[in-house]
Amino acid sequence: MISVKGYAAQAVKQPLQPFQFERREPRPNDVVIDILYGGICHSDVHQARDEWGGSMFPMVPGHEIVGKVSRVGAKVKRFKKGDNAGVGCFVDSCRKCPKCKKGLQQFCTVHTAFTYNGTEMDLKTPTYGGYSSQIVVDEAYTLKIKPNVPLERVTPLLCAGITTYSPMRHWNVKKGQKVGVVGLGGLGHMAVKLAASLGAEVTVFSTSAAKQADAKKLGATSFALSKDPTVMTHLMGHFDFIIDTVSAPHPINAFLQTLKSDGTLVLVGASPEPLEVQALSLVMGRRTLAGSLIGGIPETQEMLDYCAKKKIFSDVEVIPVTKINEAFDRMVRGDVRYRFVIDMKTL
Ligand code: NAP
Ligand code: ZN
Ligand code: ZN
Repeated sequence: MISVKGYAAQAVKQPLQPFQFERREPRPNDVVIDILYGGICHSDVHQARDEWGGSMFPMVPGHEIVGKVSRVGAKVKRFKKGDNAGVGCFVDSCRKCPKCKKGLQQFCTVHTAFTYNGTEMDLKTPTYGGYSSQIVVDEAYTLKIKPNVPLERVTPLLCAGITTYSPMRHWNVKKGQKVGVVGLGGLGHMAVKLAASLGAEVTVFSTSAAKQADAKKLGATSFALSKDPTVMTHLMGHFDFIIDTVSAPHPINAFLQTLKSDGTLVLVGASPEPLEVQALSLVMGRRTLAGSLIGGIPETQEMLDYCAKKKIFSDVEVIPVTKINEAFDRMVRGDVRYRFVIDMKTL
């Protein structure tokens, strides 16, 4: 076994603390990755604080993982020692069901082994995530990261990037469309960069007036303070597509009403409490309310390659591991520009 250092929540709502645990010796198809950077996603906070229910402890969060390959199993073909490598939100799936065969492993009908707060394919062995020094993953679930990219700024692409890229590709966001991004945090700022790169005209909906200048710098053409009812009324019937990244309950009808007819609002934000939907917000204009979950391995690789080519990276604040708990609190307060990334050298 490989002895690994990490940070874990030992029980619900406990601060994360140093935690020593073991990873498996690499199997023939595994790569061992020395983790350099771990991103902090709001899902880490939701799960460490058991806001969605069913959390498993001890929990080592972290599903935005970038590092260097330090060892490979005998059958590994795509990686060698010293290569950059990334791991996202899951580390295995059944590989046989129709979803896995289509490369949609996040929707595996048998079992998706999420990177943490889940179990391996034996449904018993707990998985531990990226707030740690090393991870052992099958090469089929490991992403290639190009050389000569800023690794700390690539790290958030493994969740925030793919979660916003995938629905834009699925709903075919394209040049000339009007796209709204609700919530300017980790996911939201990637959504702005990606939608702008696809040629869309992007409006940021935010509750924070202080983020207006950043929205423009990130590539948005407009900024809408969503708490202001006159602003919302002015935008009624305006958007082809809206991506909603808000992590908490919020009034969604006002956003639905800003869609054109046949427009789609995709929820990626995962509020623990329900949202209230007025039937008429959808009925009028034949609008669609949809959801989307991260992305499969092929699409995640496509997104990483696309971002490397277009030089699209996350805006990050790199922190030492000792600041994790503070970063969780700051994220909940909306005080992040726009993703915390842990420097694992400090572990
Ligand atoms: P984040 O960095 O904290 O950003 C969330 C943003 O939502 C905040 O910056 C804030 O933006 C807005 N917001 C927060 N509380 C709000 C409230 N009470 N009312 C209105 N707006 C509020 O979080 P994140 O990492 O981007 O994650 C966002 C959500 O997506 C989380 O729920 C997370 O679990 C979920 N998620 C889902 C997937 C998926 O596959 N579907 C993947 C990753 C994450 P403003 O200040 O601009 O208003
Ligand atoms: Zn995430
Ligand atoms: Zn499957």
